Amino acid sequence: MGQTVVLTGMILQTMPMGEYDKRVTILTKERGKITAFAKGARRQNSTLLAASEPFCFGEFELYEGRTTYTLVKASISNYFRELVSDLEKVYFGFYFLEVASYYTQENNDEKEMLKLLYQSLKALEHPSLENRLVKFIYELRVLVVNGEYPNVFSCMKCGKKENLVCFSTKYRGTLCEECAKKESGILMNDSVLYTLQYIITADLKKLYTFTVTDEVLLVLEKIKKSYWDSYLPHTFQSLKLLEESLA
Ligand SMILES: [Zn+2]
Repeated sequence: MGQTVVLTGMILQTMPMGEYDKRVTILTKERGKITAFAKGARRQNSTLLAASEPFCFGEFELYEGRTTYTLVKASISNYFRELVSDLEKVYFGFYFLEVASYYTQENNDEKEMLKLLYQSLKALEHPSLENRLVKFIYELRVLVVNGEYPNVFSCMKCGKKENLVCFSTKYRGTLCEECAKKESGILMNDSVLYTLQYIITADLKKLYTFTVTDEVLLVLEKIKKSYWDSYLPHTFQSLKLLEESLA
């Protein structure tokens, strides 16, 4: 016999099914990433119509069957309406959702990813934060949550903590001035280094409280591209759409 559970989470993805139904993927605090069947959710008079869209965050009442969940009721506390009403931010937002989906699983503790995703979407809504910076911070912080981030606190070759002037994808982190002479990498100034260090160590609540110059952002993006291309050879469909939208 099944029973009803209430889970807190965010809708990552929805897929139409049949004529009026949907299948939704929810990143939950309690059970990681789950998928649920939302019966009749595409009918105009359904109470689930608006509550079963991507970005919806709240409490979801689900009937737990033997192998599937069925969405019964939803109480949404944040629809991210400002984000959804801005086309450019929507492209960024969908990419954030896809990254979160890629990195999470069912019955895994994904609380940190859910918190990070929530704060990052809030940051996207923030009018004075550059979307591209929010994206970089989110991307790096996702690696931190998953333990795959580069070391930017010492030289990867000699261990020295001073004069870190270069980012090496090959060595998965920074190199000092001396070691950088014999290696290739991306040159960086102190602002780039401090930004990387800050993103990796800052408290989540203070993560989105700074801005950088265009010049710094360009170097950060170069580092990200090089590092992700080498260690995360996955194509995110929403990233392709986002890049096309910005081109
Ligand atoms: Zn060194």
